[in-house]
Amino acid sequence: MQLLLMGPPGAGKGTQAAELVKKFDIPHISTGDMFRAAVKEGTELGKQAKACMDAGKLVPDEVTIGIVRERLAKDDCKKGFILDGFPRTVEQADALKGILDGLGLQLTRVLNIHVPAEDLIERAIGRRICKKCGATYHVKFNPTKVEGVCDDCGGELYQRKDDNEDTMKNRLAVYEASTKPLIDYYTKAGLYTEIDGRQSIEKVTNDLIGVLFSAQ
Ligand code: ADP
Ligand code: ADP
Ligand code: ZN
Repeated sequence: MQLLLMGPPGAGKGTQAAELVKKFDIPHISTGDMFRAAVKEGTELGKQAKACMDAGKLVPDEVTIGIVRERLAKDDCKKGFILDGFPRTVEQADALKGILDGLGLQLTRVLNIHVPAEDLIERAIGRRICKKCGATYHVKFNPTKVEGVCDDCGGELYQRKDDNEDTMKNRLAVYEASTKPLIDYYTKAGLYTEIDGRQSIEKVTNDLIGVLFSAQ
């Protein structure tokens, strides 16, 4: 199953990808996670990505497409994958099509988690992530049992530098201008399904899985 999870920043893509990984045992490929790992390691890629991420702008297409091409060529993707946060531009979507054609693969479904803009800033600002295992929480909507400590592994939680109101406004504007056209793109390709992301995390997961089973 080759899945693509779409949605504006803070919609719940990472949260739902983690659930789908448990269910389908296929790799989760998040360009945002890959860029954050590169920033942490201080690699050349990290240096290129950091300024864009901190400003809430997109990392240039040629950089982003390159890392996805490399990742999708790995053996573990042969059993399927969940792309999260890529593609974010029509150019990236065209490139993805070329990469998948080259691998003899095609997308099974594009799932868009729809959440209205007014909810997204609150979701992003309250987001907390485990330093150790990457689990995602929310101070209000999905809190840990002990404040600041991961339920799964006991790791310390942190807040992403770009999860502030100013940067979120830029990220939402970038989403509207560059990523939203993909809704039309994948509707025309017959792959698009929208899920109501304003429900509880569990209900959104159920809806996603429901679509995938009925699509097979
Ligand atoms: P994305 O990967 O799309 O940016 P995340 O999965 O990181 O989004 O979710 C953003 C924030 O919203 C996180 O703090 C997460 O815990 C919270 N969240 C995710 N899904 C829901 C939901 N259905 N209802 C309320 N909060 C949610
Ligand atoms: P969110 O969905 O909450 O915005 P991500 O972790 O997907 O968070 O992305 C964080 C940042 O990483 C983006 O604001 C952007 O700077 C960069 N990024 C992630 N994916 C892409 C992509 N496909 N193209 C360009 N930049 C990206
Ligand atoms: Zn953890």
